[in-house]
Amino acid sequence: MSQEFKLPGEKIAFLEEYLPGENTFDDGESIRSTMIGKAEFDKEERIALVKNEKSNSIPKIGDEIVGIVEAALGSMIAVSMQYINGIKVNSNVECICATRHMRKKNVALVKDIVKLKIINHINGTIHASMDESHLGVLFTKCRKCFGEVFKDRDSVKCKECGWFDDRKLSSDFGKSDFLK
Ligand SMILES: [Zn+2]
Repeated sequence: MSQEFKLPGEKIAFLEEYLPGENTFDDGESIRSTMIGKAEFDKEERIALVKNEKSNSIPKIGDEIVGIVEAALGSMIAVSMQYINGIKVNSNVECICATRHMRKKNVALVKDIVKLKIINHINGTIHASMDESHLGVLFTKCRKCFGEVFKDRDSVKCKECGWFDDRKLSSDFGKSDFLK
């Protein structure tokens, strides 16, 4: 017995065998599931937990996501998450990232691809940050002509029209294997 589907409240293990893990609770005697999902048993750590498809598409604090900018406002961007820790998700869950403190006019544009780190969940909103050097814009285009751009110090410059623009670039900007 290593994997089985369980219903909320259903017993998955005895407390003397395992410790309660993700999506479980203990009733003083047994470990029970808090949701419909697959029971998994970590025999080394002696942890019993329950997983489902949906929980995999909601990132945890500290997870890194790659997504597409859906809205870019003065103080924040909203990003539709495409990958969590390099694994494709199909839920289109959004997170927001505050950008006001960066003092850049165009931290990221709509349709840019960005890498972010999840910092917290508040009232059902997922908040992310791009305040580390490997976080930020992975792919962008010229704001004027949608031409291809290249990195020029802290900015990007358009190959077509020469327009300079600021972005919060990831140190992985321009690499095609950023999903690794
Ligand atoms: Zn251009």
